[in-house]
Amino acid sequence: MYPPRFEYYAPTTLDEALSILGRYGDEAKVLAGGQSLIPLLKLRITSPGALVDINRIEGLDRISEGDGFLSIGALARHKACERSELLQGRYRTLGAAAPQISDPIVRNLGTVGGSLVHADPQGDWGSALLAMNAEVLARGPDGERTIPLADFFQGPFMTALKPGELVVSISVPDPGARSSGAYLKLERKVGDFATAAVAVHVALDNGNIGKAGIALTGVGGTNIKATAAEDSLAGAEPTDDAIAEAARLAAEAAEPIADVRGSADYKRNVVRVFTERGLRTAVEAARAA
Ligand SMILES: Cc1cc2nc3c(=O)[nH]c(=O)nc-3n(C[C@H](O)[C@H](O)[C@H](O)COP(=O)(O)OP(=O)(O)OC[C@H]3O[C@@H](n4cnc5c(N)ncnc54)[C@H](O)[C@@H]3O)c2cc1C
Repeated sequence: MYPPRFEYYAPTTLDEALSILGRYGDEAKVLAGGQSLIPLLKLRITSPGALVDINRIEGLDRISEGDGFLSIGALARHKACERSELLQGRYRTLGAAAPQISDPIVRNLGTVGGSLVHADPQGDWGSALLAMNAEVLARGPDGERTIPLADFFQGPFMTALKPGELVVSISVPDPGARSSGAYLKLERKVGDFATAAVAVHVALDNGNIGKAGIALTGVGGTNIKATAAEDSLAGAEPTDDAIAEAARLAAEAAEPIADVRGSADYKRNVVRVFTERGLRTAVEAARAA
């Protein structure tokens, strides 16, 4: 099916994009990689009056580090993240998630900002960035605001973004040198969305876990931050028992439903096993850092 008619704009500056978005309000949609939006247009699930293509805005795809943050431009492609050295080491949770998103064609076009705004509970960036306590930097008619990712996802395909607002970048706080992470994803075949996936991050403090981040993909109405599991590890020695207990709490936080990918019990058990494995991998990598 062809999409219904819409006006097409290709601004070259953020101000220009915001002014067009302001004119159309919730009648306009931002076009980034188009990997989620174009299918929705073709199926006529959404029929915006205008598309604001942000691909010509310079610098919106920049990935950089400084002032205690890793900054990922909203337009950074999954593929660029997969290749970036900056998303390794202490930001390894992100570097591990990137190559597990779909296939190379989708990764060449799809963007981090588009993935977060699409807010698919099976989106991989949501969990990887939640585990790392990321914040979304949004700009709109009333200026700029920062939204912790934990508050950004409000339901399946729903976010805290207001009409007229654009995601400009995503900030990830520097977790410190002695830290690392992992992203474990179970998919039915290469390129599929997750049956279940787990993002973990640990920052060591004198051999103990100073801070842990754990988030779940595909087992609820949004990506889920497993806060009880995270809290159970804060200040703890990374023993087998502590890791097993955190994995149990992560599985408890999951809210899976049965579907073609598996039963609810199966998915919950995948979360438990992946959390345990991910934490072990992350602790080992952080020790070696
Ligand atoms: C076959 C296939 C398989 C896939 N598999 C996976 C997978 O395994 N894991 C996974 O995580 N994802 C998967 N995806 C989704 C993919 O990651 C998309 O890239 C992503 O969901 C959307 O990014 P995009 O840049 O294409 O956004 P678009 O499709 O351009 O936009 C998506 C939504 O976000 C809005 N938007 C985009 N950018 C901004 C911005 N900067 N500010 C405000 N609003 C914005 C748009 O208006 C739209 O509502 C898959 C997609 C396809 C087609």
